[in-house]
Amino acid sequence: MRFESVPDYHMHTPRCNHATGNVMDYCQAALNVGLKEIGMSDHSPMPGGFDAAWRMANNELPDYLAEVENARDTLAGRLDVRIGIEADFHPGTENAVSGMIQAYAWDYVIGSVHYIGDWAFDNPDELARWKDMDVEQAYCDYFELVGQSALSGMFDVIGHPDLIKKFGQRPPEGSIRVEMAENAMLESVLASGAALEISSAGLRKPVGEIYPQARIVHKAAKLGIPFAFGSDAHAPGEVGHGMDECLTMLVQAGVQSVVAFQQRQRRDVLIQAVS
Ligand code: ZN
Ligand code: FE
Ligand code: FE
Ligand code: ZN
Repeated sequence: MRFESVPDYHMHTPRCNHATGNVMDYCQAALNVGLKEIGMSDHSPMPGGFDAAWRMANNELPDYLAEVENARDTLAGRLDVRIGIEADFHPGTENAVSGMIQAYAWDYVIGSVHYIGDWAFDNPDELARWKDMDVEQAYCDYFELVGQSALSGMFDVIGHPDLIKKFGQRPPEGSIRVEMAENAMLESVLASGAALEISSAGLRKPVGEIYPQARIVHKAAKLGIPFAFGSDAHAPGEVGHGMDECLTMLVQAGVQSVVAFQQRQRRDVLIQAVS
């Protein structure tokens, strides 16, 4: 199915050291594919040198904000540009992250889990560590952290909520433990009031599947958890990628709208098919 565009709220800049294109390039790409609203959400600074190679440094944050503000002001009336950030949820860093969030008038904040303990499970450089892992346990630990991230209350959107599958490792078929961990995660998201991200990035990764998988989308929809769309673009050509696939999955789960944010106030955007 094809749909009217909805906001794409997940894209990066070269400050994270693994993306290309400046903010205006992402905006131009968004206009080219017919989007009306986007949000930048580069990887935030984190305290204590956490994952420093894969994110902007503290002293790059003002420049990031100025670049996005400038694009927003320049394109006013043509493209709505929101100012977001993708912060990591990592136990022990909450105070610093919360301080960063309080210090600026964000339109929204995405909270993502990229680490289990000291293991960056989605980092290609740490792929070898999967062979020492109990896959079922890794999934359970991951969903536990995602649930905690929601309950921290710091985030508007819970990023790519089954990222653990990125490289294609799968728990045993029908694992009750993983199902229960998924359910607990969703109950936490529901209680927190945050939106769940539906992300097309997984379609471009070895797993070849939307984050989160259809089973989770259907359970979340049944609970009434809202969704936000993100392409997680790390290059301008990825802006809006996979939007129709993601919206098709939402519609099949009975979801009628996605959310948008301005100054952390949420509104609904109807999902409308194009005939
Ligand atoms: Zn990234
Ligand atoms: Fe992420
Ligand atoms: Fe991202
Ligand atoms: Zn991401």
